Amino acid sequence: MKHYQFWFVVGSQFLYGPEVLETVDDRAAQMAREMSKALPYPLVHKVTAKTNQEISDVVKEANFDASCAGIITWCHTFSPSKMWINGFAQLQKPYCHLATQYNRDIPNDEIDMDFMNLNQAAHGDREHGFIGARLRMPRKVIAGYWQDEMVQERLGNWMKAAVGVAFSKDLKVMRFGDNMREVAVTEGDKVEVQAKLGWQVNTWPVGELAEIMDAVTDTKIDSLMSLYREQYDFATDDVDTIRYQAREEIAIAKMMEREGCRAFTNTFQDLYGMRQLPGLATQHLTQQGYGYGGEGDWKVSAMTAIMKRMGENGNGASAFMEDYTYHLAKGHEYSLGAHMLEVCPSLAEDKPRIEVHPLGIGGREDAARLVFEGKVGPAIVASLVDMGGRLRLIVQDIECVKPIFPMPNLPVARVMWKAMPNLTSGVECWVIAGGAHHTVLSYDVTAGQMRDWARMMDIEFVHISKDTTPEKLEEELMVKDLVWKLK
Ligand code: MN
Repeated sequence: MKHYQFWFVVGSQFLYGPEVLETVDDRAAQMAREMSKALPYPLVHKVTAKTNQEISDVVKEANFDASCAGIITWCHTFSPSKMWINGFAQLQKPYCHLATQYNRDIPNDEIDMDFMNLNQAAHGDREHGFIGARLRMPRKVIAGYWQDEMVQERLGNWMKAAVGVAFSKDLKVMRFGDNMREVAVTEGDKVEVQAKLGWQVNTWPVGELAEIMDAVTDTKIDSLMSLYREQYDFATDDVDTIRYQAREEIAIAKMMEREGCRAFTNTFQDLYGMRQLPGLATQHLTQQGYGYGGEGDWKVSAMTAIMKRMGENGNGASAFMEDYTYHLAKGHEYSLGAHMLEVCPSLAEDKPRIEVHPLGIGGREDAARLVFEGKVGPAIVASLVDMGGRLRLIVQDIECVKPIFPMPNLPVARVMWKAMPNLTSGVECWVIAGGAHHTVLSYDVTAGQMRDWARMMDIEFVHISKDTTPEKLEEELMVKDLVWKLK
């Protein structure tokens, strides 16, 4: 996994003399050091910038340094913002403006004009904010005391979204076969997506995968089987069927590694030369951080990989999901999500079980898959759709519950949730916005982080929350349609 860091760029000027600048420099270094202890990625104090040249130089360096995932700026003193124009005009990395102050309190006795000249972030950050607004820069603004837990948490969340941007720009997606015949929402403009989000989406033949599968050795399968035994309960004696999934996993991983891909798709309509639809194979791959989308859905596959990378410890609880069926009893309305086989076990409440069952569709042999219930707690579902000329990211807040029935005859992983604002309005909003049946369900990436990500990527963002109504959303979408046509 790549190691990322963020750069702390502190604005000032020569007006205050060398002593003040030295103090600002020392304090900025101290703040970066201290905050790094609580942040998910290191914050490195890069420069206390006093000139146009220094700002342009640090921006150019940030643009070309692959480890720099973004810059965080702050103005301890006043930093005249025309100095920032040339640098900002060239900035290609995510940018957050931390509007903070070194001291928490106004010191009653100590305060005099020297103190005021040194500690003037309140107007320094306003001058700095103006130029961001004037240049229409995609930026995050976080205000508050730098040692405050909430401020650090928000900064950390933004950092994770920015790492999602860096990861996205390098992402390669491996497609086996095309999209499922006739399906609209899984389609999209791959050229536009590459220009906008960086994804390299390309196809490899299923026949090549079948050849590589045939060449997988028993020794390799043995060692993957012992890993399965450590991680999952075997609820079947049909070891051969499980071994076949191990063979599939090893071959898919080998091809992805060879091509540098972090996400893949396949479709049950194109499994030429394969006996089973990859189920357990896909689930174990996604547990390791790979993205996946069924039915050739390369957009949801890429989004799964990105949201996993944005999540806890760089591989969070996020998974490819599909809205399947509703429970519509008044006052007890729930959605049931699942997929044919491939839901990532990072969502599991308990240890997943390996089971073998026939597939209802696709005409292949019985397939081994992990069966489990999803965790309880707040989560989101996210869907990226191609609106023709632009991408729209739709995120809905949900509350996952313990499934209200055991559903003993349902042979797949399942998650049950309450959608916001409620099931029926939530469905109406989702349908109005054109959200897909495929989503990424995430327990540890928030709607706020997805909003930050969409802003950094310069794509449309739609949030369906407890406060959304279909009427308000319809109006919002009409306005957005106009805005995005003009952009
Ligand atoms: Mn599907």
